[in-house]
Amino acid sequence: MEFTDISLKDIDQLANTSFPLCMRHLFNRGVGLNLENALAFWRAEFSQKVGSERFDKEYAYTVRHNYGKEGKRTDYTPYSCQKIISVTPSVGDHHGCPYRHFSEENLRAALSKMGVGGRAMDDVMDKVRNRHYQLACTMTFETIHAASCDSGINHPNQYFIQSRKLLEP
Ligand code: SF4
Repeated sequence: MEFTDISLKDIDQLANTSFPLCMRHLFNRGVGLNLENALAFWRAEFSQKVGSERFDKEYAYTVRHNYGKEGKRTDYTPYSCQKIISVTPSVGDHHGCPYRHFSEENLRAALSKMGVGGRAMDDVMDKVRNRHYQLACTMTFETIHAASCDSGINHPNQYFIQSRKLLEP
C-alpha cells in the first residue's frame, strides 16, 4: 500500500496495527490521508460526541488548518517525539505524547487496548516513571510487533513506517 493512498476504509485497520499511541488520538497528515478523507473521518469520529454541526463549526477549521488550507501553517511534517513530549496540551484536546501526558490509569488502559500486558506493561510503565517516554514507546512497538526496534522511536511517522515495513515486507 502506498502511504499516499490511504483511504477511509483502511484507516481503522492501520490505526489498530501501525499507529503509535499519539496518532491514535490525532489524525495526521503524515500518513497521507487527503483533506476530504480526513474531514470525513474526523467528522464521523467527533460527531458521535459533539454533533456534526458543532464539528463543522469548531473542528473542521482545525483539520483544514493542519492541512495548511487555513491559517499560516504550511509545513505538513508532524512534529518529532521530542517536540510533542515537550508541549503542554491544552485541556480537552488530544495533542501531546500519551506516555508523557496521560494519567497512569488512562495510559494503562490505552496500552492494554494495544495488546500490551503482563511483564511488558510493567517494563513500559517503569520507563514512564523514569521519564523515558520514547523508550516506553519503543518498548510498546517491540512488544506489539514482536520485533526489535534498534533505532528507537523518535517520530510518529517513523513508528508508522517501521510498522508497515514489518507488517507488509
Ligand atoms: Fe507518539 Fe513519539 Fe510519544 Fe510515541 S514517543 S506516542 S511516537 S510522541
